[in-house]
Amino acid sequence: MSDHKPTVLVIEDEKQMRKFVCISLTTNGYHVIEASTGAEGVQQAAAYTPDLILLDLGLPDIDGLEVTKQLREWNTSPILVISAREQEDSKVLALDGGADDYLTKPFGAGELMARIRVALRHAVQNKDTATTELKLGDDIHVDLVRRLVVVRGKETHLTPIEYKLLTTLAKHAGMVMTHRQLLEQVWGPGHAHQLQYLRVYMTQLRHKLEEHPAQPRFLVTEPGIGYRLRGES
Ligand code: CA
Repeated sequence: MSDHKPTVLVIEDEKQMRKFVCISLTTNGYHVIEASTGAEGVQQAAAYTPDLILLDLGLPDIDGLEVTKQLREWNTSPILVISAREQEDSKVLALDGGADDYLTKPFGAGELMARIRVALRHAVQNKDTATTELKLGDDIHVDLVRRLVVVRGKETHLTPIEYKLLTTLAKHAGMVMTHRQLLEQVWGPGHAHQLQYLRVYMTQLRHKLEEHPAQPRFLVTEPGIGYRLRGES
């Protein structure tokens, strides 16, 4: 970790919410930039290249989903959506559109900070391409060079699809991945709607990796949205 203060851009029109988020961030050592509309947010993102963007979906000018699309045309900072929209659809659309994670309002400062740490860590790991090993707790070790999977001390055979599913989730460890993202990245763009494939392989993978497949510790379901690989946190 470098010792510079990470900069977080907060795009949120609701004054009270913005204040709460900004105070929490400042208290925890972040540098904060604020925007109250989508257009202003896009401008600030270009001007300050923040390390992370917190984005509300319900904005007065441009919808947050559109803001995500615009940002993703040129910006690679993690986007964490903060939204009062309960519907799975808008979360899925935001994530498919390029957001990295979401939090449903209301949320506590503790959870917000934890999600921000995961997203920033993830962004740093992405820059560091030298990762050759994947570890999930003390239980699971994956040697990415030799494609060797060891589960609780035992070498375990994964099929090519199971292995790809695991490593795809691992690339986004701690963050949610939608069904669509997983299907497209593991099976290919033509398979975005074949949810049953994903379910079948996820079940197999859980049986091979999890001590209690029905109460998974690592391969976590995000109901109606997708899956999240929980690493150590
Ligand atoms: Ca709003």
